[in-house]
Amino acid sequence: EVEYATALDIFDAAVAAEPDSAFLHYFDATLTFAEVNSAADALAARLIAEGFGSGDRLAVYVQNNPAFVIGIVAAWKAGGIAVAINPMNKQRELTYMLIDSGATALLTLDDLYVDVAEPTIATGSTAVRTVFTSSPLDFQTRDDPRLFDGLRRRRLPGTNDLVEIIDNFDGSPARTPTLSADDTAVLTYTSGTTGEPKGAMNTHGNLAFNAQTYRDWTGLKPGDGVLGVAPLFHITGLVGHVMTAMLARAPLTLTHRFAPDVTLDAIRERRPVFTVAAITAFNALSAAPGATPADFESLRILYSGGAPIAPAMADRLEQVFGAYIHNIYGLTETSSPSHGVPLGVRAPVDPTSGALSVGVPVFNTIVRVVGEDGDDVPVGEVGEFVTSGPQVIKGYWNKPDKTAESLPGGALRTGDVGFMDADGWFYVVDRKKDMINASGYKVWPREVEDVLYTHPAVREAAVVGVPDEYRGETVKAYVSLHSGATVEPAELVEFCKEQMAAYKYPRSVEIVGELPKTVTGKILRRELRQPAT
Ligand code: ATP
Repeated sequence: EVEYATALDIFDAAVAAEPDSAFLHYFDATLTFAEVNSAADALAARLIAEGFGSGDRLAVYVQNNPAFVIGIVAAWKAGGIAVAINPMNKQRELTYMLIDSGATALLTLDDLYVDVAEPTIATGSTAVRTVFTSSPLDFQTRDDPRLFDGLRRRRLPGTNDLVEIIDNFDGSPARTPTLSADDTAVLTYTSGTTGEPKGAMNTHGNLAFNAQTYRDWTGLKPGDGVLGVAPLFHITGLVGHVMTAMLARAPLTLTHRFAPDVTLDAIRERRPVFTVAAITAFNALSAAPGATPADFESLRILYSGGAPIAPAMADRLEQVFGAYIHNIYGLTETSSPSHGVPLGVRAPVDPTSGALSVGVPVFNTIVRVVGEDGDDVPVGEVGEFVTSGPQVIKGYWNKPDKTAESLPGGALRTGDVGFMDADGWFYVVDRKKDMINASGYKVWPREVEDVLYTHPAVREAAVVGVPDEYRGETVKAYVSLHSGATVEPAELVEFCKEQMAAYKYPRSVEIVGELPKTVTGKILRRELRQPAT
């Protein structure tokens, strides 16, 4: 049964039960549940005084900082919706999201304000009337020079200083909002690996449900640490870190952003038990300078989602972390997981393709595998996943056409193709849109990448289709290498050729320093298909 109706109920219950327990660790500082509560009350009271009302949007354009959490809770306390915006966004993207969401208030950090938000708002194209700023140096006293070199706390005219609002707060709690499970809690913009960002309406019920999924899967107990690796604006950070920590009453360690060396220090200091992140982040942590297996001893509960895991990489990382990395699968539109591998269970590997299972559907979640005609395909056959469950969004903000197209009858067409085996395990073959059509043969990039990962020199691989006069499209691989490793492209072509059908193996391999990625660590095949001009 679902324990809480809204995300705010989860927070309120934690504050009532464990006011003095640690909720957020940020460098040398710790904020308790009561402290975050009173900060959020202060911000909510100011929002309300500025005319922010029920259903209004507060844009939160902030890195992994306590201000992010204070911001979203304050938006809920004021009866509104938080708009979670990627802090890597530049003016073009921020303008789009502010206009699309109709946000009237914005919370950001001072450098983001000066560089991006201020010029965006100055154009007069957005509805933002009130701006709140905080400094990355607030809520801590040890300003890590690796992240904040030369940074100074600034007072910015025309904005409201978050710390000042908190310090001057008279303590009278904001009015109690009337929120229900079906109300939108956050707008999370799909990360746009395949197209124009859409604001997914993740409801309070969606967040409350999947916070419970994570808590139940991980078995987290009060006081167990959660390591913040995923960005909080992304659904996995929001639900898998913030909401899970809130529900389990477990302290969440934040480090402004993921930087392997800084994050490694935070692990050494806070000894977290659980994290969930893209596999590329585990890969980067494993290669952090000075990292030893002893550093990762506290991290016993590991989940990786958001992108495929090549079995060869999973095996290598298990050695480094000394713990099995469980696969978890979902989309922004499923408020993080729709599937996962239960704790303590090893995902089966499909004997034919060698792919690792993404797990079984979450409790109360129904996943159909459908063919082009919309009918269910037989067990073991490939089709598109269509997902229904308490974590599936009710639609996209202001986009009824996209909602009707992607969520007919409330079931989500995921755009992912895969199959279910006879035991109910699901396997993602690839994204429908990434299929390569080589002389009429279907090539799924994922399968070719999995083979490349088995080569000892290969650190990361991405396979795309490139135009070809004779075949229509042909297969091309981009790879980065482990530090110190060398290999010739022709050798990698040959390596693949020996292991797969003639239409599949990459005709060319290009070795690059780093593959392009989203801020969540997802490799951007799209950028490789259309190299920046
Ligand atoms: P956009 O929808 O704008 O293209 P995005 O898809 O990158 O952005 P997300 O919602 O973060 O945005 O990503 C969800 C996708 O990530 C899934 O549809 C799936 O293709 C992929 N994915 C997530 N988890 C896994 C996993 N465990 N294994 C394989 N693929 C995964």
